[in-house]
Amino acid sequence: MKIAIDIDGVVVDLVESWLRKFHPDHVKEDMYSWSGFDGVGSTVEEFFEEICELTVNDIIMIKDASETIKRIREKHDVFFLTDKHSGVMGWTVGVLKKYGLGNIEFINCKVEDKQKEEYNYDVLIDDCPLRIDDGRLYMFDQPWNRSIYFNNRVFGWLDFESKI
Ligand SMILES: [Mg+2]
Repeated sequence: MKIAIDIDGVVVDLVESWLRKFHPDHVKEDMYSWSGFDGVGSTVEEFFEEICELTVNDIIMIKDASETIKRIREKHDVFFLTDKHSGVMGWTVGVLKKYGLGNIEFINCKVEDKQKEEYNYDVLIDDCPLRIDDGRLYMFDQPWNRSIYFNNRVFGWLDFESKI
């Protein structure tokens, strides 16, 4: 199978990394929706500004992500499919290298001006509640997508590995 993997919220625990550095009095559950910055006393503009200031050493990984991706790669064709703006590419590339994932194909659909659903894959694992539930999607459980129903919801990487 061809498996597309989103990065933020799936491989990199971006919200947790951001909160620890800039809003340590908040927890991830305060981000109760995709636009739930009110719960953190922040705005989407501040969020994007602040995540550009993160460094590789600030980044917390999602539990089991790098080990499971390496195992899945032995059986499947895996690539990263992200829609990041250029300001965060520095630490993104650094983090993937640090955790031994730097040699995996990397597509930034923002650069190609395409939606993720336009790409050729059998499975997409993503945490964004705006994604289309087209039968290929596995929603990676996070507080900001929990209130929305998806056919395939996974609770962590080991759960995903057991379901594909
Ligand atoms: Mg994401």
